[in-house]
Amino acid sequence: MLTGGVDPLQLVEEFDSPIYVYDTAIIKRQFKRMKSAFGVKQFKINYACKALTNINILKLLRELGSGIDCVSIQEVQLAIHAGFKPHDIMFTPNGVSLEEIELALGYGVRINIDNISILEQMGHAHPNVPVGIRINPHVFAGGNAKISVGHIDSKFGISIHQMPHVLKVIEATGQTIDGIHMHTGSDILDSDVFLYAAEILLNVARDFKDLTYVDFGSGFKVPYKQNDISTDVEDFGEKITARFNEFCEKYGRDLTLIFEPGKYLVSESGYFLVKVNVVKSTPASLFAGIDSGMNHLIRPMFYDSYHRIENISQPNGRPRIYTVVGYICETDTFGVNRKISEIREGDILCFHNAGAYCFSMASNYNSRFRPAEVMVHEGEAYLIRKRETMDDLMRNQVEVKILEKATI
Ligand SMILES: *Cc1c(COP(=O)(O)O)cnc(C)c1O
Repeated sequence: MLTGGVDPLQLVEEFDSPIYVYDTAIIKRQFKRMKSAFGVKQFKINYACKALTNINILKLLRELGSGIDCVSIQEVQLAIHAGFKPHDIMFTPNGVSLEEIELALGYGVRINIDNISILEQMGHAHPNVPVGIRINPHVFAGGNAKISVGHIDSKFGISIHQMPHVLKVIEATGQTIDGIHMHTGSDILDSDVFLYAAEILLNVARDFKDLTYVDFGSGFKVPYKQNDISTDVEDFGEKITARFNEFCEKYGRDLTLIFEPGKYLVSESGYFLVKVNVVKSTPASLFAGIDSGMNHLIRPMFYDSYHRIENISQPNGRPRIYTVVGYICETDTFGVNRKISEIREGDILCFHNAGAYCFSMASNYNSRFRPAEVMVHEGEAYLIRKRETMDDLMRNQVEVKILEKATI
């Protein structure tokens, strides 16, 4: 059954709709699968927590043995709160100030720098703090084996062509580079494409003598549609392991191989349960309007991403073709021309792959409350975030007196 063996309709009864539900067994399965795919001596998974930052999910991953990848000082603080040790926290921000990096330094976490300006400033202010650097390998991996070299205009990372400059800076400041990192954002659908990017990174790594780790970022893909291809982690793991071990031998030391998956670990664990408010027929479409919108799940509108939608109230009804839309005063379409078992008003729909970048990207647009979050663990359901209330919407608003009638 969906939602970890607990009846999803019962969860809606208990916690109302809409709700995000996370099945911890799936996170565990994904973590273990990834961990066992790599045979290097020192291997580390740093969960990219921006995918889903509920503190209970962070704790679960910590218990499983994961490190954590944070992109803001607030994520670092959440990680500390969840009990991660500073050396298991990697701070990988983009375009932040030296002040924010210094705050992270205060916690003793690992720092990964993505531009030469901050590298210099760090070198002047903290020459004794080892840092990692984020490299932009300028590799663009498409959906097939074709490789095109692109991403020249990406805001992320330090270009591989700027390594001579980086080497000059660290020579002048005396700082130590302890890690080399990349995160291209592309999907690893073909191991060979990724190995090509890895080769570029390892080429750069050779020139830095004090490394303790090489971090290949993420790109692990999970299936969204029923016949989707996902990353073959076992095949990929085998190939990377062989190449990495060979590199370490030549380098003269065992380095830690790090990956920082977000989606791979949590996407499939999540279900988003919503209620159908209105079924509406127009000359061109049959709409199902739900009690949610782009304020709760923005990926379909933002990235054109596909989330499978099921009618769990009537799983065996006659399939009809629906366009599923939200209640926000924008065109917030979740899916067009979806074959879904006949929907009646009041039915509960389930969105799949709702673990990564769903709740974490939710907002209060249209002054709506963000949904509750529920975690299912070993057959029990736990409320792990309350639904918001009017107080949450009002909390930081400051009503100034000058707008009272008498003073205008
Ligand atoms: C977002 C992010 C990731 C995770 O990407 P996924 O596609 O969710 O696996 C990893 N590393 C960094 C630096 C990121 O910003």
